[in-house]
Amino acid sequence: MSAPKRFFVKNISGETELTGDGFRHAKNVLRLSEGDEVTVFDGGGAEYAAIISRVSKNTMTLHVLERRACARDPKADLYLLVGALKGDKTELVVQKATELGVKKIGVFSSRYCAAYVNGNKLERFRRVAGEAAKQCLRATVPEIEYFETLSAALSSAENYRYKLFACEFAECSDVSLSEVRESCALAVGSEGGFTREEFEEAKAMGFAGITLGKRILRAETAAISLLSLAAYFTGELQ
Ligand code: SAM
Repeated sequence: MSAPKRFFVKNISGETELTGDGFRHAKNVLRLSEGDEVTVFDGGGAEYAAIISRVSKNTMTLHVLERRACARDPKADLYLLVGALKGDKTELVVQKATELGVKKIGVFSSRYCAAYVNGNKLERFRRVAGEAAKQCLRATVPEIEYFETLSAALSSAENYRYKLFACEFAECSDVSLSEVRESCALAVGSEGGFTREEFEEAKAMGFAGITLGKRILRAETAAISLLSLAAYFTGELQ
C-alpha cells in the first residue's frame, strides 16, 4: 500500500477543509473519497494524519487524527540570497533550493539586476516553495522575502555563523566550503553579476568571497551548485 497523499493546508484544526487546487487534485486526479487517509501540513514543521470524512462539490472535510514530527525537515539553517532573475529562473531556484533543504530564501535587486519582483511574483515564489516542499516530503516551507537593495539583503544575514558571497571575479575563496557548519548564508548574483563595490560592501559586512571555479556559471547554476555544496557539508545531503 502506498503512503498517504500529502496536502498543504493553511490553519489545520480538528476538522480541516481541503479546497482549491489541493481539493481538485485529491478528487479528480487521485480520486480520493470518504474514508481515505491523507497527510496534511501547514508549513510550520509538523504534519498530521487525517481521514477524509466528507466530500462535497468544492471541498473535502478532513478529520485530523494525530500530529507527527517530520524527520525529513532540514536541521541545518541554510539561507540563500539570490538576485532576482529573468523569466521563471527565480522559480527554478526556489524549487531546487527547497528540495535541497534551504530554510529561508531572500530575493534581492542589485546594481546590475534587470528583473523586478512585485507582490504577485513573491506570492508565486511562495506557492512554488509550497509545492516543492510537498513533493519532497518536507513539512516546512522555506520563508521567502524580497529586498529592494543588496545592502538590505546582506544585513538580513547578520546573525548567520558563515556568510558566503559567490563572486564571479574572486580569484580564490576566502574559506573552504568544507568548513561550513549548521548556520550559513549564501549570496549569489543575478544574470548581470556583482560590481566591485558590492563585493567590497559584502566583505565589510562579514561575507567571505567564494569562487566557483574558472568558468562563469549562469546565476541559477551558481545558486544551485553553491547551495548543494553547503547542504552536503552541513549534512543535509548525507
Ligand atoms: N555578468 C557576469 C559576468 O559577465 O561576469 C556573470 C554573472 S553570473 C551569470 C551570476 C552570478 O553567479 C554571479 O554574480 C555569482 O554570484 C555567480 N557566479 C557565476 N559564476 C561564478 C564563479 N565562477 N565563481 C563564483 N560565483 C560565480
